[in-house]
Amino acid sequence: MQDRLDITPLPSGKDNYIWVARAGPHTIVVDPGEAQPVIDHLDDSHKLRAIVLTHKHDDHIGGVAELMDRFPRANIYESKYSETLFDDIVIGEGDEVRPIGLDDQTLKIHHAPGHTRDHLIYVGGGVLFSGDLLFSCGCGRLFEGDETDLANGVRILEGLDHNLEVCAGHEYTLDNIRFAKEVEPNNPALLAWERKAAKLRAEGKPTLPTTLGDEFTYNPFLRAGVDAVRQAAEKHAGEPLGTKTQVLRVLRAWKDDFK
Ligand SMILES: [Zn+2]
Repeated sequence: MQDRLDITPLPSGKDNYIWVARAGPHTIVVDPGEAQPVIDHLDDSHKLRAIVLTHKHDDHIGGVAELMDRFPRANIYESKYSETLFDDIVIGEGDEVRPIGLDDQTLKIHHAPGHTRDHLIYVGGGVLFSGDLLFSCGCGRLFEGDETDLANGVRILEGLDHNLEVCAGHEYTLDNIRFAKEVEPNNPALLAWERKAAKLRAEGKPTLPTTLGDEFTYNPFLRAGVDAVRQAAEKHAGEPLGTKTQVLRVLRAWKDDFK
């Protein structure tokens, strides 16, 4: 069994996280929207082996060019489901890669479109790099997809090890919890997470990573099959919803309008 990756979230921009993952002296960085936080974080004993991208929004790739100037030997892993921007290693569904450079450190790739057509998630070393597919207590907006894509993304997550640490692209947790409480005001796991997350943010700390198993206890988008969530969505929509995909459609539209 491979070792767990040692992960650190670097705050970037308004509310992004750049994830740095290490195995020994080897370092990879996920979704560097800026270069400077990564440059500030790395020291001489850590070599940047790779830049790993979930999707091609500017706030996830903005630092790549500068990092490549600084660390020209690092590889760039990017999705094959959109235009190739960096001309290095192009990957897609089912691929397994070794960006750390170690044989026992593989990341498995799933294609999870919806937020964007090209969106990938990465699983390995005890970690899920979920990009803008999954946040704590929420999920990404569907800019280039629909509820069927979201349902497929949820199905992928349901099939993963629930002990995985969720390394998401944004610190949206408290806002997401406000919405989740509209859906499930009496969910004890949600209320407990609200208290804990509020304390972390008050201390200036990230709320991430969470675990995938915990997300299934309070994230409404992972709970479309739970009676309380379906009933809340039906009440909001004013109609019966026969499938999880229909529940997800209502939840996503409800959240998009939620202030
Ligand atoms: Zn995005």
